[in-house]
Order: sequence, then C-alpha cells, then structure tokens
Amino acid sequence: MPALDALISALPGEFRDAIRRGTPLDGLTTLRVGGPADLVCSIRTPEAALRFQALAAEALVPAYVLGAGSNVLAADTGYRGVILRVETAEFSAAGDVVTAGAGLGFDDLIVRSLDAGLVGLEFASGIPGTLGGALVGNAGCYGHEIGEFLLDAVVLRPDGRLETVGPEAFGFRYRETDLRETGAMVLGARFKLRRGDVHEAGLLRQEKLADRRRKHPVDVPSAGSWFRNLPPAGPGGRRRPAGELLERAGAKDMCEGPARVFPLHANIIINAGGATSAQISRLADRMQAAVRERFAVDLQEEVRRLGT
Ligand SMILES: Cc1cc2nc3c(=O)[nH]c(=O)nc-3n(C[C@H](O)[C@H](O)[C@H](O)COP(=O)(O)OP(=O)(O)OC[C@H]3O[C@@H](n4cnc5c(N)ncnc54)[C@H](O)[C@@H]3O)c2cc1C
Repeated sequence: MPALDALISALPGEFRDAIRRGTPLDGLTTLRVGGPADLVCSIRTPEAALRFQALAAEALVPAYVLGAGSNVLAADTGYRGVILRVETAEFSAAGDVVTAGAGLGFDDLIVRSLDAGLVGLEFASGIPGTLGGALVGNAGCYGHEIGEFLLDAVVLRPDGRLETVGPEAFGFRYRETDLRETGAMVLGARFKLRRGDVHEAGLLRQEKLADRRRKHPVDVPSAGSWFRNLPPAGPGGRRRPAGELLERAGAKDMCEGPARVFPLHANIIINAGGATSAQISRLADRMQAAVRERFAVDLQEEVRRLGT
C-alpha cells in the first residue's frame, strides 16, 4: 500500500516504538480470530492521537479505533489501514470525581475507584474491555449503564477537533451512542461517583463476578452477547433477552466447526479452538435465520465487524 509507506515515512521519531506492521488481529480481539492489520499504532497521549490522525488523514490511510477488542469480529483477511489502539490509561480521584484514560480497563476503573473510597460502578464488575469501548457502546448490565455516571470526556473528532464534551454529545441509549457513529476517538473521561460503604460495594462486586463466572464464558474466547436484546413491548417495560428466543429456536445445538454457541447462554458464540471469522459469521447468520423463521423477529447484532 503506497499510502501506508508514505504515512510511515512521514511519522516523526516519537512513533517508532508505537507502530507495528502486519499485526494479526487474533491477538488483539477476545474472540481470537482475524488476519493481519497493515499497521497498528498505540495511542498513549491526546497529542500523539492528534498528530497521528492528521498524518493518516493526509496520507488517505483508513483508520479504525480499537480498545481491547472484546466486542468485535475481525475478518480473516485482516484490515487494510491503521488500527489505532487507545492506550491512555492514567487514573486519579478527587472528591467524588474520578478521571481516567480511555485505555484503562473498565474493570480496573471500578477497582481503583473502590480503592479511592468511591462507589457506584460495581454493578459492572467483570465487563471486559476498555473505558473507551465501554463509553462508545454504553456498556452495562443488571439495569445500569456507564453513561449514567459520565461527567465529560476528551474526544478527538475525525476532522481533527480535540474537545471536551458532556454526556449530551454521546446520546447514550441501549448499547449505543451517537458518538460511535461519528468515528470520534475517546481519549479520557471523568465520572461522578459517590463516597459510600466500600465494604458493601466490594461484596456486591464479588456477587456480580460470581454471577458472570456462572453464566459467561470467562475462560473461552468470545465477544459477549452477539445480538441485542429486543425493545420492551410497551413504555416502562423490560427488554426481552435475545437469548430466550435463540434458545427456543434451537441455537444451543448449533456450531460451524469450532465456532459454537455457548452451552450455558444461547446468545454467546465461543471459539472452541481454531475457529475462523468466516465460521463465526456463518454461525451468527444461522442463529439469526432460526429466530426469524420461528418468531418473525430480526435480531440486530451487538458485536461490531472489523474489516468485513
Ligand atoms: C465475556 C464477555 C462478557 C461481556 N459482558 C458484557 C456486558 O455485560 N455488558 C456489555 O455492555 N458488554 C459486555 N461485553 C462486551 C464488551 O466487553 C463491551 O462492549 C466493551 O465495553 C467493549 O470494550 P472494548 O474496549 O473491548 O471495545 P472494542 O471491542 O475494542 O471496540 C468496540 C467498539 O468500540 C469502539 N471503540 C473502542 N475504543 C474506543 C475509543 N477509545 N474511542 C472510540 N471508539 C472506541 C470500536 O471502534 C468498536 O466500534 C462482554 C464481552 C465479553 C467477551
């Protein structure tokens, strides 16, 4: 790719240690599938993000922002362009406000907040991924979402604007935000928590972690729930779990080679060893088709496709 060579030769020395060519995406995603990305660049400061983005745009090289890769399916053919891995991971607490880099693990944020005497986020204990990924996807569980706690965030827009924005710029809704669709990169954020009973919060955290160990594939590669839960039937109602329809449609018996539906949760695909992205994709299509045929419902994917 001549544009890529032009970009690499235009990079100042500070990026030498931050870039890697031909990096396989199976090592950067929790499903452990995906071919090589042309270039991966670690973003460790907002200034580096700004400089790199400007050079990539000038060289006309496509870019994709990646966190911990816990909600993406990367293509077997990899990605033609640059994967920007957000690795800003600082943390500080003052009063009831915590400030963190978007590359910090979401679960690390919870632990460090508790260490600082601040409670509120423990409902989300054990959600894999980074803070940035959690914010743009409004990660949540047990009836709460990260967006409820955001004060503001530092984002880099695709047009090069580096700005601090409030929750309204995210447009938080169920597992989705407006910001994700704009291609903006989240670099850091501040959250309002509260001083509370850290012991009690720690117990709640352990309870949530144990619940995850019972219901989720914690030791097998996966990307969490594949499909979004269905909208409530009426105002104030609860979302209907996609897993319920999938189970009744027989998804738990489905597989495509080592790509299998998790035996304990019909809405989760696991890579039982050596699965390809194409096999996982075919399995997801079959699951979706089974629900469509049985219930006339079109499930929407929650997992993002990278390079497909
Ligand atoms: C076992 C398991 C359990 C899970 N349980 C839950 C759960 O209970 N609730 C839940 O909500 N999710 C759950 N997930 C899904 C996943 O953990 C979340 O979606 C997580 O927030 C994704 O974060 P990430 O850093 O891995 O993002 P990635 O997977 O790397 O990226 C996901 C999306 O976010 C974008 N993105 C990532 N970082 C940034 C950034 N800094 N700026 C801009 N865009 C960015 C990417 O472009 C992509 O569109 C689970 C996943 C697994 C594997």
